[in-house]
Amino acid sequence: MPAPCRVVVPLRQHLGAPAKAIVAVGDRVAEGQPIAEPGGFVSAPVHAPIAGEVTFVGPRAHPGGFPCESVVIEARDGVGPAATDGAPPPWRLPGASADWERMTRAELTALIREAGIVGLGGAAFPTHVKLSPPAGKPIDLLVINGAECEPFLTCDHRVMLEETAAVVTGVRILKRALGVPRAIIGVEGNKPDAIARLGEACALDDGIEVVACRVKYPQGAEKQLINALTGREVPPPPGLPLDVGVVVQNVGTAAAVARAVTAGLPLYERVVTVSGSAIARPSNVRVRIGTPLRDIIDFCGGLASPPAKVVMGGPMMGASLTDLDVPVVKATSGLLFFTRHECPDSTPHACIRCGRCGEACPLCLQPSEIALRVEIGDLDAAQALHIQECMECGTCAYICPSNRWLVQQVRLGKAKLHDRKQQRSA
Ligand code: SF4
Ligand code: SF4
Repeated sequence: MPAPCRVVVPLRQHLGAPAKAIVAVGDRVAEGQPIAEPGGFVSAPVHAPIAGEVTFVGPRAHPGGFPCESVVIEARDGVGPAATDGAPPPWRLPGASADWERMTRAELTALIREAGIVGLGGAAFPTHVKLSPPAGKPIDLLVINGAECEPFLTCDHRVMLEETAAVVTGVRILKRALGVPRAIIGVEGNKPDAIARLGEACALDDGIEVVACRVKYPQGAEKQLINALTGREVPPPPGLPLDVGVVVQNVGTAAAVARAVTAGLPLYERVVTVSGSAIARPSNVRVRIGTPLRDIIDFCGGLASPPAKVVMGGPMMGASLTDLDVPVVKATSGLLFFTRHECPDSTPHACIRCGRCGEACPLCLQPSEIALRVEIGDLDAAQALHIQECMECGTCAYICPSNRWLVQQVRLGKAKLHDRKQQRSA
């Protein structure tokens, strides 16, 4: 998609501390130039998606539903996407090189950090943090997540097909940055073309294996994918993949790493799936971060009918939006425009104690019990039922014949527990 003339760039686009603005209203910025620095170790810098003038720094609506410190950049006076001359040259990461094999692990990790790369599978965890495991946690395997198990989403599939060389180069760079001898790229078996193409690209590299996984939701969840590919079981929270010697990265993240390290391109654009029956021309589009949703709707032919629901992310784990002026962020894997026909009635009814939610939960939790405890305000009991282990996959809510808002209650319960912890430590 062509670059827009105006972007709204939130400074909270990753897990961890939000970034801090380093530009002010009136500043001229080049495409790719850093506009915000990391707010801590678990954080990431943010870069200008277009060249132009900073016209606002302050709170703007975030797709997550809260006001968020943001930087607005507008193309001005021959500077910006429509400019034919006068635009400053794009900013590129100093030190990037196609000769990355000569770089040290620390140099590679620093470049990835400066590029603002975060997990593009949806979690947006800063990539450099995963590449810096603590002492005493030896890593022997890199897992690359190409499962893309949520319905509707196909952006990773297109990246694997159309940017195969970048994905494989990114995997090699990540392997070197981690110092591991082996990587496995896990792809669901319903993408045979991607499996074949990646297999060909890795044929001469005996340190990278492409494995077809069973088509099963939520195969792309980190713990599930590690177990499917290696048989290793990640312990319950606070257990992490690094406790079983594994680091997981998404295929889109690998391609972004290759672009950053070899060509110096910071992360200021990504591929987004635009789908659902209410959009005129469903597509996968490469868009600049900060592009307002309305611009993407226009680019995809407009709305074919008024949407009953707009979801950012996938239909299982994504979040509904109420505002079409919010921007795309680094974590935006999909934009789904659903008609009423695609949104069945979700009025909740009484629990009939059928037990289906518990049977379906991939983590063997008791979703109905957890949701009930949150509903009546018994957060201690919800905690005792391991609410924090829930990965919010949405399977329980999907399967429930009574339309109980199970995952919604889990999210609410986690937020209340977080607030309670903050109040107690204040
Ligand atoms: S969302 Fe439901 S099914 Fe998924 S892990 Fe949480 S409780 Fe289990
Ligand atoms: S699936 Fe729904 S109705 Fe059945 S036990 Fe769970 S919450 Fe109750």
